[in-house]
Amino acid sequence: MKKKAITVDCPNCHRSIVWGDEYPERPFCSKRCKDSDFIDWANEQKTIPGSPSYDDIFSEGDPDLY
Ligand SMILES: [Zn+2]
Repeated sequence: MKKKAITVDCPNCHRSIVWGDEYPERPFCSKRCKDSDFIDWANEQKTIPGSPSYDDIFSEGDPDLY
């Protein structure tokens, strides 16, 4: 039985990666992209009125989280 590799595009840099243990940060190609995307996401959240601000999330968060 032939196993078909599933590929996904990294949401940050849009590089195609194989969905598997080779990329533990999937759907991101690397931890670097994963962290970068999160920062973008946090910045976007900051611009939405009525949402918890970036500062609130990080000033009140558990410091051991990172
Ligand atoms: Zn990437």
